[in-house]
Amino acid sequence: MVMGQAEPAAAYPDPAAVWAALSQVPDPEIPVVSIVDMGMVREVKVDGEGVSVTFTPTFSGCPALHVIRQSIEDAVRGLGVNDVEVKSTLTPPWTTDSILPDARERLREYGIAPPAPAEGSLISLEPEPTSCPRCGSFNVRMTASFGPTLCKRLYVCDACKEPFEGFKSV
Ligand SMILES: [Zn+2]
Repeated sequence: MVMGQAEPAAAYPDPAAVWAALSQVPDPEIPVVSIVDMGMVREVKVDGEGVSVTFTPTFSGCPALHVIRQSIEDAVRGLGVNDVEVKSTLTPPWTTDSILPDARERLREYGIAPPAPAEGSLISLEPEPTSCPRCGSFNVRMTASFGPTLCKRLYVCDACKEPFEGFKSV
C-alpha cells in the first residue's frame, strides 16, 4: 500500500529514495555487496531538483573508480533526477572499518575473508591475521601481495588446502 499515489511525482528528490537507489549499486568488484554496504557513500545532498553524491573510493589502487562514478550517476538519474553531481573525496579516508557488519557476513559467504579491523591504523603494510572463510582456520598463509586486483590478497589455508581471497586492511 503506497500512500499519496494521487500526488504528482515530487519535484524534489527524496534523500531516502536516493540512498535506497544507491544501496542497489553493486560494488564493481564484489557484486554481493553494494557501495552503501561498503561504506563508500559519504553524503547525499538534495538542492532544489539537483542531487549531489559524495563517495570515497575504497582503495586508491582500485581500477573501478570511473565505473562507480557512472553507476552512481545512473542510479540517481533512474529516479528521474536530471541534475546529478558525483564527487569523490579522500578525506576522511575510507577504511575497512566502514564496511557495514551485515556486509561482512555476505563477504564471508561469498568466499572473501572480511578484513580484520584496522584499529585506527590507516595504512598497514603487514598482512593482517585472517581466517579461512571456508573452515575458519587461522592457519593461513598469504601467497601473493596482490590478488586479482590491488584491493585483495591471495591466501591459502593450510587446514583445508583451499586458496581464498582476503581484503587488505587499510
Ligand atoms: Zn580452510
